[in-house]
Amino acid sequence: DVFASIFSYDENIEELLDKIYKEASNLKVGNVNITVNLAIGAYNILPHETDVNNILDKAYLARSQIKGLYNSNYYLFDEKLEKQMIEEQSLESSMEEALVNKEFIIVYQPKVFTKNEKMAGAEALVRWKRNGEMISPGKFIPLFEKNKFIVKLDMYIFEKVCQDISDWKDKYGGAPIVSINVSKEHFVDPNFIEQYVKICEKYEIETSNIDLEITESATVDSNIDIIDIMNKIKEKGFAISIDDFGTGYSSLSMLQNMPIDILKIDKVFVDKANLEGDNNVINYIEDMAEHMKVRTIVEGVETKEQVEFIKKIGCDIIQGYYYSKPIPKEEFENYFKNNM
Ligand code: C2E
Ligand code: CA
Ligand code: CA
Repeated sequence: DVFASIFSYDENIEELLDKIYKEASNLKVGNVNITVNLAIGAYNILPHETDVNNILDKAYLARSQIKGLYNSNYYLFDEKLEKQMIEEQSLESSMEEALVNKEFIIVYQPKVFTKNEKMAGAEALVRWKRNGEMISPGKFIPLFEKNKFIVKLDMYIFEKVCQDISDWKDKYGGAPIVSINVSKEHFVDPNFIEQYVKICEKYEIETSNIDLEITESATVDSNIDIIDIMNKIKEKGFAISIDDFGTGYSSLSMLQNMPIDILKIDKVFVDKANLEGDNNVINYIEDMAEHMKVRTIVEGVETKEQVEFIKKIGCDIIQGYYYSKPIPKEEFENYFKNNM
């Protein structure tokens, strides 16, 4: 459902795009009116440009700027995107070296039990420390998913976390359960599970010390037998969380067949929560989770009011700035020494 076309035009480009959009939204087949809502990304090709892939990338990037298809219908590639592309190219050209130079570091964000405020575990999140500047994953993870470097990076993060867990076991006689994000790019080659198991063996830690977070949107790819992959993950002893739950359009019937332990309710529902009423989406998800016998984590909790609301609904675990931001390993150690 994606098309590309090239026009040569004399008129104002915005007028041209407007015309294309209007015609598509007023199609008539026989005497039936059909509304097609186009999302158009446009790029003005310069006389010297011949690299078609590059041209398409630019139009595609422009198209990705259209959010909420119903009120804006086209986006013209601009300087802002030009800058973004250059930035991405710069990140891309230095990522391999960054891995060797240990520029990727892990921060840990504690998760807290609702009922007694004790620590339930932590999520490992990556940061890129580049030329003294800390880059957040929002800037590079989507790029690394596109160029598949994420597969390498996730493996690296997994090993680093295992190393930390092993250290903590030596130092404190135990370690908290750590969640690690698994990108959907791994699913094309389920061999990653074996690799994860081998790394656990290398550091002599139990797979049950690790919870793998898979985003809800990663479960809807029809080319992949996600239930089979999840069963294999569970067989090896890892726990499974469904991340960003409520934003990914998974089917409820499939969800029922997934061997999952935890639903992580996305931050958007906390932001939107009407903290008084009880027909909040979090309520419904919690009811469903209870039926499915899985636990719930609410993400992105920032205020006392939100904590109280979540306690009332009965969700099991909270993760959010209210308790702690993601923090470096040493700081996290101090946190869990006092909160286990
Ligand atoms: P995520 O897995 O949904 O992680 C939760 C994000 O929400 C983190 O952002 C965390 O810092 C942020 N967060 C937690 N509590 C709060 C809060 O109370 N308020 C607000 N405003 N934000 C909160 P972060 O660390 O920037 O990571 C962004 C995303 O990047 C993650 O979203 C995850 O999808 C991805 N990511 C991070 N590390 C990895 C990794 O090692 N591998 C993969 N594949 N993806 C990763
Ligand atoms: Ca996550
Ligand atoms: Ca999440």
